[in-house]
Amino acid sequence: MSNLAPLPGGAFLVNDAPPESVFSPEDFTAEARLMGRSAEDFLKKEVLPHVERIEAHDLDLMATLMHKAGEAGLLGAEVPEAYGGFGLDNRTGALIAEKLNWQQSFALSHEAHTVIATLPLMFFGSHALKSKYLPKLASGEWIGSFALSETGSGSDALGAQTRAQLSEDGKHWTLNGTKMWITNTAFAQLFSVFAKVDGDKFSCFMVERDTPGVSFGKEEHKLGMKGTSTRQVILENVQVPYENLVGDVGKGHYAAFCALNMGRFKLEAGAVGGIKETLAVCAAYANQRKQFNRSIGSFGMIQAKLGSICARLFALESAVYRLAGELDSVFEGIDATADDAAKHYHHAAEEYAIECSIVKVIGSELYSWATDEAIQIHGGYGYTEEFPVARAWRDQRLLRIGEGANEIVRPIIINTLLRRAKQGRLSLEAQATNCTLKRSGLRLLHLLTEHFGASLAEEQEALGAVSDIISSAYCHESMALRIRKLKGVVQETARLCTALYLHESQTAGVALAQQVLTRCHADQASTTSLLAELSPSCATDAIALRRQLAATVLAGERYPF
Ligand SMILES: Cc1cc2nc3c(=O)[nH]c(=O)nc-3n(C[C@H](O)[C@H](O)[C@H](O)COP(=O)(O)OP(=O)(O)OC[C@H]3O[C@@H](n4cnc5c(N)ncnc54)[C@H](O)[C@@H]3O)c2cc1C
Repeated sequence: MSNLAPLPGGAFLVNDAPPESVFSPEDFTAEARLMGRSAEDFLKKEVLPHVERIEAHDLDLMATLMHKAGEAGLLGAEVPEAYGGFGLDNRTGALIAEKLNWQQSFALSHEAHTVIATLPLMFFGSHALKSKYLPKLASGEWIGSFALSETGSGSDALGAQTRAQLSEDGKHWTLNGTKMWITNTAFAQLFSVFAKVDGDKFSCFMVERDTPGVSFGKEEHKLGMKGTSTRQVILENVQVPYENLVGDVGKGHYAAFCALNMGRFKLEAGAVGGIKETLAVCAAYANQRKQFNRSIGSFGMIQAKLGSICARLFALESAVYRLAGELDSVFEGIDATADDAAKHYHHAAEEYAIECSIVKVIGSELYSWATDEAIQIHGGYGYTEEFPVARAWRDQRLLRIGEGANEIVRPIIINTLLRRAKQGRLSLEAQATNCTLKRSGLRLLHLLTEHFGASLAEEQEALGAVSDIISSAYCHESMALRIRKLKGVVQETARLCTALYLHESQTAGVALAQQVLTRCHADQASTTSLLAELSPSCATDAIALRRQLAATVLAGERYPF
């Protein structure tokens, strides 16, 4: 277990993290592992036997499964004990999300309930409101839903048109508007609804399903996540008690964005589990499928895919659990019942916004790429419903869109870094790092800010390029620091993963940096020195590394960690 306080949010870019400050899966306590096993058992016994019914959109079944998950303690893991939960940490919560992911519809319903629906209330609700609703959500007696998006406002969430008006006697709010894409709608009893008081003060309200004036659209016909309920929530003169306001009027964006930060982290903890399963399924298939009198796993092109998936998954897993430990360092000790709990929760959920965004982009894009390659490894069979990879590919596609599309999240990484630097929270000048990716990312960031100044926001492509280099630096450091916790053959495999990930990140980084340097009209000397620093070492034989990793994956028919 880590025994030093982690660096503050974003500081990884300018400092090298002390190894003892970084949590990794090897540090899990027996109690947390037990909770992970409970989640895994639940999935195997209660969910996986019903995949066909789930895929056939049996929402009554999904509702039943959610209630059962509540009875099994899987909905209240992180809800404080004072409000009927188990008060477990983010590390354990991430492990639960990972273990539930192989049925992505169930995992999404679970995430929508436990994270984005529950956290606005848990973080910002009054003690009375939390006492009223949190025990029901933690036990699964009630299922929750998060109602932010609208037909005209998705990425631009604050552009919502739903309005709230306080009655003259100050006793209730009247809500009017339509929410779009709301997960769990078919069976949710409680909605965290975002609306603007008097048309301009963005605020959050708890709305019960049975309130007069609440109605629902038809189920959306989706590409994937077919077992989830996704409908419009229509609010026509819906009266909710004054006390159902969550937090302060005009501060609803705190509730929305804090919940979304945590959602980004949790979705990608789930992705870790889904990609592990994908890799295992692919390895087994590559061993068994013969062409040209050889198993297809013996071909270099197939090995390259397996090797790269393995290395990048090790990077994602290391980053996700490092982040879980970082989050726990700021959530630990918050008294959920204290009058100022909201202030502390707000600080905690915001501190690692950069890292939450990093894992969101890295995880969702790895999941997309890995499931796409999984179909390729399965050939024509992968294109059928006979094998699970087609469903995994369809389902995961949502992750690049939901909880902040990646085009929105990439700029958040850079904008948050620059904002914190401006506020004096983080110095981007005093670099104390030996990491090539970090140093190059910082140099590019300085070049961009100097060259574009106030118009930097219009340089999204360049911001995206720099955010990718910075993100790979966070992942690479997370995996490199994890190696020392492993032993023997596994440690050697971790070394191979880390070397390959660095090579791939630097190769991609050179192409990204080149575009940014040209865009900034950087002089020849700066261009040459930066590209030279970022270029991968010619001594690294990436093909050999992928082959070695693939051999390990094929031998065990699973992710080797
Ligand atoms: C299955 C499913 C479940 C969902 N569940 C929920 C839920 O439970 N609760 C909820 O509130 N919402 C939910 N959503 C909505 C989801 O959060 C939105 O779809 C998402 O935020 C994107 O919004 P949009 O669909 O309106 O796309 P838009 O915002 O219209 O974006 C379209 C494209 O333009 C890009 N774009 C937009 N603005 C910019 C910009 N400034 N710079 C660069 N590119 C930009 C986007 O990245 C995207 O590629 C769900 C959606 C789906 C599909």
